[in-house]
Amino acid sequence: MKTRIKNILRLQPVGETITVTGWVRTKRDTGSFSFVEISDGSSLANLQVIAGESLANYHSAITSLGTGSSVVVSGELKESPAKGQAVELHADDIEVVGTADAETYPLQKKRHSFEFLREMSHLRPRTNALGAVGRVRSRLSYAVHQFFQIRDFVQVHTPIITTSDCEGAGEMFQVSTGQEKGSDDHFFGHSAGLTVSGQLQAEVYALALGDVYTFGPTFRAENSHTSRHLAEFWMIEPEMAFCDLQSNMQLAEQMLKYLLEDAMEHCQEDMQLFDKFIEKGLLKKLRAVVDKDFAHITYSEAIERLSKSKKKFEYPVEWGVDMQSEHERYLTEEVFKCPLAVTDYPASIKPFYMRVNDDKKTVAAMDILVPGIGEIIGGSQREERLEVLEGRMVEAGIDLKEYNWYLDLRRYGTVPHSGFGLGFERLVQFVTGMANIREVIPFPRTPGSAPC
Ligand code: ATP
Ligand code: MN
Repeated sequence: MKTRIKNILRLQPVGETITVTGWVRTKRDTGSFSFVEISDGSSLANLQVIAGESLANYHSAITSLGTGSSVVVSGELKESPAKGQAVELHADDIEVVGTADAETYPLQKKRHSFEFLREMSHLRPRTNALGAVGRVRSRLSYAVHQFFQIRDFVQVHTPIITTSDCEGAGEMFQVSTGQEKGSDDHFFGHSAGLTVSGQLQAEVYALALGDVYTFGPTFRAENSHTSRHLAEFWMIEPEMAFCDLQSNMQLAEQMLKYLLEDAMEHCQEDMQLFDKFIEKGLLKKLRAVVDKDFAHITYSEAIERLSKSKKKFEYPVEWGVDMQSEHERYLTEEVFKCPLAVTDYPASIKPFYMRVNDDKKTVAAMDILVPGIGEIIGGSQREERLEVLEGRMVEAGIDLKEYNWYLDLRRYGTVPHSGFGLGFERLVQFVTGMANIREVIPFPRTPGSAPC
């Protein structure tokens, strides 16, 4: 039975005979014995193995072990006399499972740029930084479910293939068998695409089960070459019945704080790596986000602030235009210096399902902006009034017949309800300090690129 290195370093069972499996990170020969650093991916820290001449294969296999080769090591765990590690494993047996040629192994000891590593999605998780991202991402995913489950939210698996195309106008990937002969000959009897959001289907379940959430892959064929956009990303979308915009925003704030705190508590070693090498001051920044209330501002106030500011923006602002990332980041980074909820956007720039405010010009929308990223959450209270919703849909040129099911939710037992979408990769970016979103998803899909 193998023991994970994370647990060996945590429990330090000195005197016990243990077996570890992993990959060689570095090796240093001293003549009659070698120091071999092994990583098994369970933690950032490696286990130091002492391999001596008494091993049958010492001269034939161990001295020539290259970085990246895989081994099974058994031996006794002892206290380490040297600085740098508390314990070390004195090997009685090392089986070399797979060699790695030192000449050609692409991950040499020097530091590689993230751009370079992107060209080898299949090897980059073996680096310290990308391995740490992998562990933090996994922990955050777990914490998302925990956050909702302890609050009695029901998880809904919304479809990946969808026939509701109103939201993704122009952004939806089409799904086809390639065999269709005419426009009426679709596999599903209707044109279909990959989902851009699970919201409309989450609403169905919210209006039956109360508080629900979906957490799944989302696809957008937008041709954005930015550090914050992917063509395939994961989104967390809670939807709550009997819930207005205020409670919606409260949940979003609670959730972000919960997730940041969870990562800091359960991924200390990895978070320290990010704090030291990726974004200096990251932990202090995240701690402040957890401890302070988020700021609030309406869209109209935001536009006023932006137009009065002395800062030169690439895109000019005026009431009615969508804010660009430069505007969002100015507000959260320079004006408020903390996460900021912007509410009540013009109806004309927001989707048909957002609830129209009494002024008839704005809708009950909320975006949450964070320093370094800009928009991390987009949400709203949904339009629950049948006539108002129909009016908005007609205005948007949507065929009401296609959305009869959605309108039924307003015909039969309609209630005020709200929800939001949190981009999971933007969250992982915020938590790890990674500058580019391509580093926080294992296999990034962007225009022109989909390796592995
Ligand atoms: P943006 O304005 O940043 O492009 P959006 O307004 O199009 O985002 P929404 O439709 O509100 O995004 O989606 C909800 C959340 O999903 C966003 O707040 C963001 O966190 C995330 N998100 C949206 N598009 C992408 C993308 N292409 N890649 C990664 N995450 C995304
Ligand atoms: Mn948005």
